[in-house]
Amino acid sequence: MVRVVLTGFRGTGKTAVGERLAALLQVPFSDTDRLVEEQAGRPIPAIFSAEGEAGFRLREHRVIAGLPAGDCVISTGGGVVLDPGNVAVLRRDALVVHLTADPKTIEHRIRDTGRPALTALPLREEIRELLAARRQAYLSSADYTLDTTGRNVNEVCLLLLRRIRGEDTPAEAIDRFLSFHRGTPVPEVERVAFSKKARAAKTAPLPSLYAVIGNPCSHSMSPPVFTRLFQDHLVDAAYTRIEWHDLGEILNYVRAAGFRGLSVTLPFKETLIPLLDEVDEHTVAIGAANTVLFTDGHAMGFNTDWTGIRDPLATWKGARAVVVGAGGAAAAAVYALRSLDMDVWVLNRTPGRATALAERHGCHSGPLTVLKDLVPDVLVNATPVGMAPGGGIAIDPGTLGEGMVVFDLVYTPPETPLIRAARKAGCSVIPGTEMFVRQACAQFRVFTGIDPDPALVREVLA
Ligand code: NAP
Repeated sequence: MVRVVLTGFRGTGKTAVGERLAALLQVPFSDTDRLVEEQAGRPIPAIFSAEGEAGFRLREHRVIAGLPAGDCVISTGGGVVLDPGNVAVLRRDALVVHLTADPKTIEHRIRDTGRPALTALPLREEIRELLAARRQAYLSSADYTLDTTGRNVNEVCLLLLRRIRGEDTPAEAIDRFLSFHRGTPVPEVERVAFSKKARAAKTAPLPSLYAVIGNPCSHSMSPPVFTRLFQDHLVDAAYTRIEWHDLGEILNYVRAAGFRGLSVTLPFKETLIPLLDEVDEHTVAIGAANTVLFTDGHAMGFNTDWTGIRDPLATWKGARAVVVGAGGAAAAAVYALRSLDMDVWVLNRTPGRATALAERHGCHSGPLTVLKDLVPDVLVNATPVGMAPGGGIAIDPGTLGEGMVVFDLVYTPPETPLIRAARKAGCSVIPGTEMFVRQACAQFRVFTGIDPDPALVREVLA
């Protein structure tokens, strides 16, 4: 099956490359901008002036939803990837290629095409601004990125054909990775499934490779969760686990083998940051990364743990909150609660650590005993207390009161002693599985540009 989707900014060559590639592959060609014009019965500038950008985007969304399945080359409009619903449709059984070009080349190519401006800015500034705003969506939603600057249509098509036929697959590096992987603890059935997929590419594009890395991570639910998400969205990918003590060694193997993404767990979340090429602002503020996306060997770090805490508490904006603990999970929690304008206290067994964390984020701090004087609306447990069989509760259960929301980040067992005590005291409760579910969904969006349904993740965890 050959289904190729070309995404990218205007002027990166999607239509010219798409037409030539379709002819070379002897498959039909579709251009979503042309389909929108045909269905509207008028050119894009006229759609923009009559219906605005929102009207155009709605038409574009309908066209994408109606694209026939099967072999073809599809070239898309520059803004399609901003809608995760479009990305989910375009990614089904397809190789998605993001074409880029430098801003000067783009300006030269589109100056006289008559396409409507999307902002009030001069063309050069509009190009720079939109490229920056869309960069993440372009990178996440494609299987790989190809720069068309200084290349003609034939040269770009030759590179694409190599990719489509699996001829640019780093086969030896994958074999080296697989032999390293055999020396690490992985359930046999997962290892076999991953090896089969990773070796499969000889005449077809390599599936995108992903892993959770940590030490330990043999308990991680990420492999079954992501495998299911990739399968359900018909994205060709293989996901495994790498439990190993040496982070530098893991990164060398996965980079060489062309991995596309990593989920990162203890103890690497902090030490990873200086080894990456780029991290986003949230990761810098929290001081920990749990997600890596590789694009053309460039490693970008993200933190989705904080969104896993923010999303279930989104309706509690401005509340008075207490975070118990001052480690990595607490840092993500404090950042999440501050992003919701909450007034936050950090309480910890070692008060000095609470003070250091609180000072970084403009919060109050103290020892655990302060809780009885605070009566918060929201209480987040970011300690491991409650994980061990027969484990206890990090705080005095007598401080829990009716109307409080208690979010226990511990997710094994799903019903912790704190959650049980909170229910008994009349609090609303959010179990730690919910953080796992939401951070996994946010991570899948970084990996693929698709927003998955959290219910799918809950189903795998159940
Ligand atoms: P961490 O960096 O080791 O920090 C642990 C924190 O808990 C420290 O502040 C520590 O206090 C405190 N603590 C440890 N034992 C305690 C005890 N017996 N009584 C009172 N406080 C105690 O660990 P982390 O990475 O932040 O992870 C904490 C927990 O969050 C994990 O165990 C996990 O269950 C949960 N987590 C959940 C998810 C999810 O997706 N749901 C994701 C990440 C983490 P001191 O400073 O005094 O040592």
